[in-house]
Amino acid sequence: MKNIGYTELYEQIHTLLGDTTPLKADCGVLCGRRCCSGSDDKGMLLFPGETSALEVKESGGRRLAVCNGKCDRSTRPVSCMLFPFFPTVDKNGKIKVELDYRGVSVCPLISNSESVAFDRKFLKNTLKAGKLLAKNEECRRFLEEITDEITQAKELYMKLCK
Ligand code: SF4
Ligand code: SF4
Repeated sequence: MKNIGYTELYEQIHTLLGDTTPLKADCGVLCGRRCCSGSDDKGMLLFPGETSALEVKESGGRRLAVCNGKCDRSTRPVSCMLFPFFPTVDKNGKIKVELDYRGVSVCPLISNSESVAFDRKFLKNTLKAGKLLAKNEECRRFLEEITDEITQAKELYMKLCK
């Protein structure tokens, strides 16, 4: 399997996801762009080896790109391109595309997912992006870590709200 560097990896991810969005319509109009209400102490998690034109802060051994709710969309972080989904790793090591329950309090698409028609191309490209990321050892580990966090967030949400 060809091992590509981070620059090429993230170029390929941007090609896959840069122009796609979870809905064919602009979901930001529905919610007032809640996932983009940035502040100085919150940020979007950067993937291993991912660089950002935004200010980058360290927190708990992780790197966060901090925005004030504005960015150059063409270079937004991978986490922003994926949201409200994430490519998770199941117990057999298979990549799946799941709703990112870490963001359930922010994004109405997550809590109302059963009645939302997500863009199939976005979901397909998110799966492709996940498979590409998983070929890199560091990124696969990161996907596994976040999968655990999403599972915990989903379990808590199901206990409290369903
Ligand atoms: S919070 Fe959800 S619905 Fe609102 S803009 Fe972000 S992804 Fe779209
Ligand atoms: S970096 Fe851009 S896309 Fe991501 S949360 Fe900030 S404004 Fe939104």
